[in-house]
Amino acid sequence: MRILVTGAAGFIGFHVVRALLARGDAVTGFDNVNDYYDVALKEARLAEIDRMGGDWRFLRADLADRAAVDAAFAEGIRGEPFDRVIHLAAQAGVRYSLENPLAYVESNVLGFTNVLEACRRAETPHLTFASTSSVYGGNTKMPFREDHGVDHPLQFYAATKRANELMAHAYAHLYRLPMTGLRFFTVYGPWGRPDMAPMLFAEAILAGQPIRIFNEGRHSRDFTYIDDIVEGVIRASDRPAAPDPAFDPANPDPATSDAPFRLLNIGNGAPVELLDFIAALEAALGRTAIRELVPSQPGDVADTFADTSRLEAATGWRARVPVEEGVRRFAEWFIDWKNRSA
Ligand code: NAD
Repeated sequence: MRILVTGAAGFIGFHVVRALLARGDAVTGFDNVNDYYDVALKEARLAEIDRMGGDWRFLRADLADRAAVDAAFAEGIRGEPFDRVIHLAAQAGVRYSLENPLAYVESNVLGFTNVLEACRRAETPHLTFASTSSVYGGNTKMPFREDHGVDHPLQFYAATKRANELMAHAYAHLYRLPMTGLRFFTVYGPWGRPDMAPMLFAEAILAGQPIRIFNEGRHSRDFTYIDDIVEGVIRASDRPAAPDPAFDPANPDPATSDAPFRLLNIGNGAPVELLDFIAALEAALGRTAIRELVPSQPGDVADTFADTSRLEAATGWRARVPVEEGVRRFAEWFIDWKNRSA
């Protein structure tokens, strides 16, 4: 297939691109390679993809630049339109959205609108886009299910991602375009994000610096290993969304839809206390962390826990990598990356 992957220089995009190239797809990557975190890491990911070879091209451009997005879709691959669009580019990060909300409007609201418009004009057969477990906000019903209420976001990041879900639903309904939103739960693994806890912690532990543990470590996260995420993204993308068979126009239930649209959780389904995650990281790195327990921050969510039965039913997917194993693989990569970039 011919596939556009936005956010190809990012953590998840990089892994998705490599998996698609490995199975023989033709892939265009699109990313502005911004400096929200270490640009050298993004460039190293791109160099790694280049080294792999395969049917690959890369566009360094901004999603907020409508002409650039339109040009990418007009060109497709060798003049043929994309069969799939996997949209992973976004301004990510929960805490940064308190500092710089406009960056979220530019990439996640304006940029996403440009992607939707381009998909409409090109009649893209299936758009799969990244949402987040953060849309569940202060929801305390565990595990999180897609039909739980999600309209009380606790951070601006979550609000822009929830907006993406609603915007995509409107386009799917109006233009009968299949669209799937995937709600990712705390993704970790090799080539991960330097602004997220696993890499921040690993960095500090190896440097003998204290690690700051919010809410005194009393929260849990459904840490999900990158290979499981990639498998779920590709399985979902391969199978276009269809109207919900349970939708009844005579008696519409708000949890169902007549549009070719769906929202699916993708998470490990086995939440881990933060302190246990740190213990696994210490074991994998062979070093002890200096713990600095601090209170929770504005916008913090206590716990996350994915119910993934919808994704499983739609695609046969199941999470496979337990946290101890995933943390071991992450730590191995991290030590190697530090040695290489020293
Ligand atoms: P990432 O920051 O590593 O990747 C995002 C990429 O998008 C970056 O390379 C960035 O340069 C690019 N980008 C941002 N704004 C852009 C713009 N305006 N134009 C072009 N490129 C732009 O993040 P990630 O962890 O790979 O996340 C991928 C997606 O998954 C994001 O949408 C994120 O919100 C979502 N998500 C991630 C997690 C996680 O735990 N990693 C959890 C929930 C949701």
